[in-house]
Amino acid sequence: MHVDVIVIGGGAAGLFCARTAGLRGRQVLVLERNPRLGNKILISGGGRCNFTNVGATAANYVTQGSPHFVKSALARYTPQDFLALVERHGIAWHEKKLGQLFCDQSSKQILQLLEDECADAQVQIKVGSIITNVERLAAPEASETPESRDPRWRVSTSQGEFRARSLVVASGGLSFPKLGATPFGYELAQRFGLQVINPRPGLVPLTFSSADLAQFGELSGLSVECLASSHDDAPTFRENLLFTHRGLSGPAILQASSYWKAGESVRLNLVPNHSVRDLLDSARRGGRELKSVLRPLLPERFIVAWSKSHAPSRPLGQLPQKELEALAQSLEAWEFKPGGDEGYPKAEVTVGGVATAELSSKTLESRRVPGLHFIGEVVDVTGWLGGYNFQWAWASGHAAGSFV
Ligand SMILES: Cc1cc2nc3c(=O)[nH]c(=O)nc-3n(C[C@H](O)[C@H](O)[C@H](O)COP(=O)(O)OP(=O)(O)OC[C@H]3O[C@@H](n4cnc5c(N)ncnc54)[C@H](O)[C@@H]3O)c2cc1C
Repeated sequence: MHVDVIVIGGGAAGLFCARTAGLRGRQVLVLERNPRLGNKILISGGGRCNFTNVGATAANYVTQGSPHFVKSALARYTPQDFLALVERHGIAWHEKKLGQLFCDQSSKQILQLLEDECADAQVQIKVGSIITNVERLAAPEASETPESRDPRWRVSTSQGEFRARSLVVASGGLSFPKLGATPFGYELAQRFGLQVINPRPGLVPLTFSSADLAQFGELSGLSVECLASSHDDAPTFRENLLFTHRGLSGPAILQASSYWKAGESVRLNLVPNHSVRDLLDSARRGGRELKSVLRPLLPERFIVAWSKSHAPSRPLGQLPQKELEALAQSLEAWEFKPGGDEGYPKAEVTVGGVATAELSSKTLESRRVPGLHFIGEVVDVTGWLGGYNFQWAWASGHAAGSFV
């Protein structure tokens, strides 16, 4: 079988690319390994799919490459474009917070939208396709002139052999292996000489060291608003932090985790709306107790656990300035050193992937290997929590789909 475009991976990016190319009259074949399409779409956003973020800009993406790389694709397919498509399909939506748009009913509606769009664009889809080999056809069969539609790729699968002019890899990252994540895209990129930035879990809960576990492990379920930042160059996130029985989670930690590397610490301000130092200073002058200062600021259970290692043996009034400052710091600039992270089974995304320097920002085509494109999460572009990852999937899928 010979088509114009083979897309490997029937997730968000692959289906969107397929539909975009199909609507341009291209013959497109999607090969999906799982028995059904879009597994991650279905579980996304707690079952309601946070399908975009109206404020998405380049600043909301983590990459080891140029921060400008995502701009071209994001500008040519915007959150408003996807929202217009959602409305055209009659899907009711709402903004939850911070520009995050969710379906009112179910993530299934977004997958249905993609399937309907692909059907309209006459995209062929083969689920349950196990790819056994990808081969680049040698000249003269493969002609490299821009007008040529000669096939350049042969893909062998459990469902037969297919040839195509363009190959789009949309096989996603490594997170949630139980949903069928594979390293296929990274391995293919490396086989064709493209650099891959070492993948690691992102948007992932961080675990306690054994000392922190002993002190804070019992706080499981407790949530506090905080400022979280992985290092000085990383953004600071003002969101909730959640204590779990193994470590810290919640949006603040998930966001910071995408910038965090093993061995580093995450700086946390657990009292973002006040200066603890000023409060302690005035409490000292007024002869008040430490706990009475902290009670309006933090949950009682946290104060008890924190006090085990931090509460001074002397009354506040007798504390030297240096000790007072250390107390304030432990709450305003807690250098939390995680023991590790919860790994791919709990990570929403994969940080790293095919190096952006290898790809055209306009078409997502490999600079070294004409006709080979990488889109979506397999690329070294990771969005913040809040609909940014799907927006990258739509935008990068659209960019490649408009070119192939
Ligand atoms: C629990 C969870 C919740 C999330 N919620 C949100 C959210 O609300 N908003 C948001 O923006 N992002 C969310 N994300 C992230 C988002 O789901 C991903 O960033 C996005 O799905 C990436 O799209 P993709 O098409 O690149 O990859 P995927 O959606 O992972 O699709 C890749 C596809 O390729 C297939 N595949 C893999 N290997 C092969 C192979 N060898 N052969 C053939 N097919 C293959 C896979 O089976 C899969 O169907 C969430 C992620 C998780 C895990």
